[in-house]
Amino acid sequence: MESLTFLSRFPFLDEAREWVRSQELTIIDMLSPDSEAIQARAMERVDDAIEGKEIIHDVRGRSEEEVELLSYPVSRFMVAAVGDQNLIKWFSHHEGERAKVLLEREEPSNVLSIGEELGLVALEHPPNWKPGKDSKRAVTKGVRPQIFAMEGENREYWVRFTGYLPPKRNISGSEWDLINQTMDKGYIKLNRRTYIRILQELVKKKVEDGLYVKMDLPRNPKLREMVKGLKTKVEGRKKRYAPTELGRLTITRLPPCMKQILGMSQAGENLPHHARFAFVTFLHAIGMSGEDIFKVFTGAPDFKEDIVRYQVEHITGSTSATNYSPPNCDTMKTGGICFNPDTLCEKEWLINPVKYYRIKGKPRTQRKTEKKET
Ligand code: SF4
Repeated sequence: MESLTFLSRFPFLDEAREWVRSQELTIIDMLSPDSEAIQARAMERVDDAIEGKEIIHDVRGRSEEEVELLSYPVSRFMVAAVGDQNLIKWFSHHEGERAKVLLEREEPSNVLSIGEELGLVALEHPPNWKPGKDSKRAVTKGVRPQIFAMEGENREYWVRFTGYLPPKRNISGSEWDLINQTMDKGYIKLNRRTYIRILQELVKKKVEDGLYVKMDLPRNPKLREMVKGLKTKVEGRKKRYAPTELGRLTITRLPPCMKQILGMSQAGENLPHHARFAFVTFLHAIGMSGEDIFKVFTGAPDFKEDIVRYQVEHITGSTSATNYSPPNCDTMKTGGICFNPDTLCEKEWLINPVKYYRIKGKPRTQRKTEKKET
């Protein structure tokens, strides 16, 4: 049995759920006036997710650990009760971030066992590896190789490529592309940092599971009040950054790829870096202001005002010497972000999403002329 300290850090684990069950406390019990500390911490968890606050884990002593652990199912209950897709994304993202911060402080053996529970077993070596004479990991007599290396920071984490791909999709940066990985017999080599980063995505997924279920709120005035308060905060975050107008942007003229990226962004999906880059350069090219482009990204679970502002200003050239151009369709296809191409996309002369947008803004007769001129 893991310690309460450990379970309070990783409340999404099966054993943590078992511990909560063993206390014979229902959600309704935890929403009673006797459990104010749990409710306050649960509210704080959700609040922090809405505001995208920094992760601070300063839990000491048995009673704080109990509150920390019990607040997790209560905060999940509240998020599900609010029933807002954006909130679910913000919350799962925040809990994933918390797990990452705490995993980075954990013993390697604990990180491995959490990885195993999340379905990403990490071998110390690729399959069929045999210790060679020159192996840096030459085994000291009497010491099992797994234990020996597990204790070192340089341990390798070989994970199945099929387990790596789904969580990797939500991580941006070319460092994560398959082409840049060391592979051996269907396994990919990770290090402690990258293994934990992948686990973060798996935690997010685990936290998110089950939160989309619609529920009827119990007749509990306090709970109703708390849920109402959270709804107001969620709407507040959305309003604070909602685009008041999209400038000259007309949604119906958007090419399918950009519609998809806009939809992902509005649904609170994390966009891969190259999709974000393509979208920002596209919006800039069709005349949207930096401020309006910035507002488009505010629903993203990983939204950080200063970082997004910097990225937008950098890509649009207001803080850099380079004014980046939107990628062509060929590059979009190679990057796997040419989503749902339609009949206009199939035209030979349609080489760039910006051209799609311009063509769509013209009457049909003029489109034919345009095609001839190309
Ligand atoms: S063909 Fe070009 S414009 Fe059409 S969806 Fe693909 S990338 Fe976008």
